[in-house]
Amino acid sequence: MNEKRPLIAVLTGAGISTDSGIPDYRGPNGLWQRDPKAQELVTIGPYLADPDVRRRAWLMRRDAGALAAEPNAGHRALVGLERSGLPVRVLTQNVDGLHQRAGQTARKVLELHGTAREVKCVDCRAVGPMEEALERVAAGEPDPPCRGCGGVLRPRTVMFGEDLDPVVLEQADAISKACHVFIAVGTSLKVFPAAALPFNAVKTGARLIIVNGEPTPFDEAASEVIREPISTALPALVRRLVARHV
Ligand code: ZN
Repeated sequence: MNEKRPLIAVLTGAGISTDSGIPDYRGPNGLWQRDPKAQELVTIGPYLADPDVRRRAWLMRRDAGALAAEPNAGHRALVGLERSGLPVRVLTQNVDGLHQRAGQTARKVLELHGTAREVKCVDCRAVGPMEEALERVAAGEPDPPCRGCGGVLRPRTVMFGEDLDPVVLEQADAISKACHVFIAVGTSLKVFPAAALPFNAVKTGARLIIVNGEPTPFDEAASEVIREPISTALPALVRRLVARHV
């Protein structure tokens, strides 16, 4: 193990994006767990079966305005960590793409739940920008079909009722086992796979640092638990890591 240039894995959850105006939809207390009518819009079965569900889902995406969200100081701190020269991998439960928008190198970000910035055709698998699909909704297509084959378009996110991409999972698993420092930011660590990754890290000897407003099941196993707001706590933590390792 290289003590001087440790591999740093950062797992991020909804908490890092709340300061960008994106609520925690998916978490244990998120909207989708509390409102079955809303959850239907992001559940694969009803979405594929019912055009009315899709029409409502498109309106929800249009009104959420997630594509317009800007990264915040927490996202920027992680970009700074990468630019310090330390090897960094970001594993995110978020689908907002804000790490990449802030400047994190795209191939160093693993999106566990996919991305809401792209759509995919369920038939021919063609991928395109969400922005373009939402423009079609605004222009009067309530359920815009694939331009190539007429198939149903869906966001390139992992919806309820679907499994995570096994390739992405395998990569996340490998990173969690190889890293020397594992930082969990803004995630309850209660939902798989987020719950398995810090476990791997601790088991293979990594230092675990938790930055989260609420207690997590891993607080006892952590070397450090930081309860301050992420937008201020993360820049301070990054400064300390860089001072220590670079
Ligand atoms: Zn198609």
